[in-house]
Amino acid sequence: MKVEIDRDRCQSYGVCVQAADEIFDLDDEDELVVRQAEIEDQGDLAERVRLAARSCPMTAISLDRPRPREVQR
Ligand code: SF4
Repeated sequence: MKVEIDRDRCQSYGVCVQAADEIFDLDDEDELVVRQAEIEDQGDLAERVRLAARSCPMTAISLDRPRPREVQR
């Protein structure tokens, strides 16, 4: 899944950093840094990144999942 940030919305509250500090960080100027823009869809890290997206007070985080493959006949 792809992690995207709407920089116009982000207010550097850092809620996402608390949820998944492997992925989100704030630099010395309180700018959000995304350490890894592409992560696996499954597992603990993915759950915490989803939590970060749900918890962001500015709804600045969007998660894009690849569409399921079409069924081959
Ligand atoms: S929780 Fe939302 S507003 Fe706060 S730093 Fe993360 S993306 Fe930005």
